[in-house]
Amino acid sequence: MSYSSALRASYQQELDAIRAAGLFKEERYIHAPQGAEIEVEFPSGASVKKVINMCANNYLGLSSHPDVIDAARKGLDHRGYGLSSVRFICGTQDIHRELENKLTAFLGTEDTLLFPSCMDANAGVFEAVLNDQDVMISDRLVHASLIDGMRLCKAMTDTYKHSDLAHLEEKLQEHQDKRVRLIITDGVFSMDGDLAKLDTIVELAEKYNAMVLVDDSHASGFIGKTGRGTHEHCGVVGKIDIITTTLGKALGGASGGCVSGRRELVEMCRQRARPYLFSNTVAPVIVSGALKVLDLISRTTERRDKLEENTRYWRKLLTEAGLDIKEGESPIVPVMLYNAKLAQDFARDLFGEGIYAIGFFHPVVPKGQARIRTQLSAAHDKHHLDKAAAAFTKIGKKYEILGLGKKEIIAKYGQ
Ligand SMILES: *Cc1c(COP(=O)(O)O)cnc(C)c1O
Repeated sequence: MSYSSALRASYQQELDAIRAAGLFKEERYIHAPQGAEIEVEFPSGASVKKVINMCANNYLGLSSHPDVIDAARKGLDHRGYGLSSVRFICGTQDIHRELENKLTAFLGTEDTLLFPSCMDANAGVFEAVLNDQDVMISDRLVHASLIDGMRLCKAMTDTYKHSDLAHLEEKLQEHQDKRVRLIITDGVFSMDGDLAKLDTIVELAEKYNAMVLVDDSHASGFIGKTGRGTHEHCGVVGKIDIITTTLGKALGGASGGCVSGRRELVEMCRQRARPYLFSNTVAPVIVSGALKVLDLISRTTERRDKLEENTRYWRKLLTEAGLDIKEGESPIVPVMLYNAKLAQDFARDLFGEGIYAIGFFHPVVPKGQARIRTQLSAAHDKHHLDKAAAAFTKIGKKYEILGLGKKEIIAKYGQ
């Protein structure tokens, strides 16, 4: 069928409906490298504005680090721009294996396989290691890419209520007849910033003979005493069967992901995972940059320590200002507003004050849970956070929500 005017109209109608529902996503153009301060242009708005960035996944501030850029440049000089091949044909260089080995050492696993992204790692891992005699039991709030990966796999799916490990235990009992039980969770959940209780999850896995997969995209590089991830924080290094994670957040922020874990499982991915077999290899420039990132963060914990300090300071500032934040220890700090329109208006006003943060509402978070998600970075200095907190306070005053809790904000603005 051709792209008829009727078909065009029907797509346009669907797009109009998205806009009418207030769910239309518009890109903003950044005229600068990623950092604590960026220049942002709203396509529909006026000029380019310099703002403090409170919404990047640049947790360690390495996205534009001079040493990383320098290493990437050297990679470009010595290994070229691209490989024009998937890994298994003629796309694997010495540096790809070197990076896999470094990731293995950093994560405390047995082996690692690089993917074009963590989305791809999650898309490939399940069908590579499971079959129709198995079950995947996932937390109900896992990342979209894990859900997509599970969809591509023939194993049965089941879920447990978010972080409800009594519920997980029931599910494990229920599925004792399966060949493999795979428990699936995020390490740090991206919307609330809460951590999975991996110590108890590992105990349950041992008790009920199950494997554990953790997506640590929002943790690798900074959660845990030396930044290895949620498994380090929970004292279960070496006990997670499969870790998937991204190079696109704290670890340099370019792109790339991996599956890391038990040797045989990683090898199964090398043999079978379709995004590994059928998508192009990670570019040498990124591999070289990532090698430098791992060097930097293996040598010193300075950056993750600064991030932790910034997080503590930011949480204190917002709490003292009377804003309603989600408790926790991760550098994801949601400011709860409950009402979608309020979240959008609040974010727009913050931008006016030179603070860049995004309002999240349904369907990204549950209905009535609208918020502004702020994210800390080691690239922030105290003066950035002081200025951002002053703006949050000013706008909070404008909407008269300072000192109010959930009930009062909902009473005022509705859900
Ligand atoms: C960001 C994210 C991903 C996707 O990572 P990419 O490398 O950008 O594809 C996967 N899982 C989780 C939990 C994430 O937060």
